[in-house]
Amino acid sequence: MNKLTLIAAMLAPMVMGKTLTASQELREYQSVRKRLRSPKEYAPGGKTFAGIENLLSQYDRQQNNNAPSLPTLRDNLPTITGRLDNAKQAQLIRGIAEKVQLTRARAIHSTSDWTEFASAYARDLEERARMQDPRFNEDLYNHAEHELRGNQCKGFSCLDDSVWMYDGAVHSDILHECIHILSTPGGLGPFYNMFGNDLNEGATQFFTERVCETLGVRGPDFAVRYPDEVDFVKSLCDTYGLGVIYNAYFKGAVEPLLDDMVKQWTTYVKQKLYADRSKPGFRERNMVKQNKKAEMKDEIRQNMRKFKMKLKWVKARLL
Ligand SMILES: [Zn+2]
Repeated sequence: MNKLTLIAAMLAPMVMGKTLTASQELREYQSVRKRLRSPKEYAPGGKTFAGIENLLSQYDRQQNNNAPSLPTLRDNLPTITGRLDNAKQAQLIRGIAEKVQLTRARAIHSTSDWTEFASAYARDLEERARMQDPRFNEDLYNHAEHELRGNQCKGFSCLDDSVWMYDGAVHSDILHECIHILSTPGGLGPFYNMFGNDLNEGATQFFTERVCETLGVRGPDFAVRYPDEVDFVKSLCDTYGLGVIYNAYFKGAVEPLLDDMVKQWTTYVKQKLYADRSKPGFRERNMVKQNKKAEMKDEIRQNMRKFKMKLKWVKARLL
């Protein structure tokens, strides 16, 4: 008996011979999925991944009829003060996980139709281009399709607070996209503007991983993404505290993080030794002596935006 037949046999008593309503079907799905390797293996009536995802979000919507709007969910995320102990960190992540689920109930569109998926992406690209130039009036479908195929993209989040997922996306990817739009509309905001796309993806995936741990999303439901960026965000949390990184990413409070970075850099300069045992040069000593914080911040921002290339610089001064 091959694996699929085995699974079909296992499910047969539950799903064959009766017509299930959508919410019954979903309950069945939720009860059996624990035993399955991935949601795709449960496909009564030829349900596709997208079908199941839509069922899930319909169900979430039913359960969360009064779910707050996304702007309200964002506003309701707390601002953190002070260092968090382990219990408070876990509490913070549980709060994020809860709001991620509500975001998912509001925002998700799943599809097995490639043209629909690519068209939605093109519309969002056009919308973003219009933000830069209101006169923008080009059809970006071909561009969108090329880009999606090029990076084998299975999901994206849009400026209008919606999330699109394509057949084959795993659970953690859906949560990743929800975290993008829970943090800021379309995933654009002070953190992205300050530190650029790579670090923004790293922070998004870092919080995705923590939320997945909390919700028990693991095994084939979890996909590793942006490992270097995530590692770097972990180091930032070790140095500056989860609360400061969270405030910067979710609440747009990037200035306090930059202030702390200037302090860290200054401490190294004053002790005349960087973390990698190299020594601060004249220019850097002078910046500290003359208290040129704005210049220091600007330099930090530029190096952080290219942190993969500038890892040595960043690690020596800021970690
Ligand atoms: Zn992302």
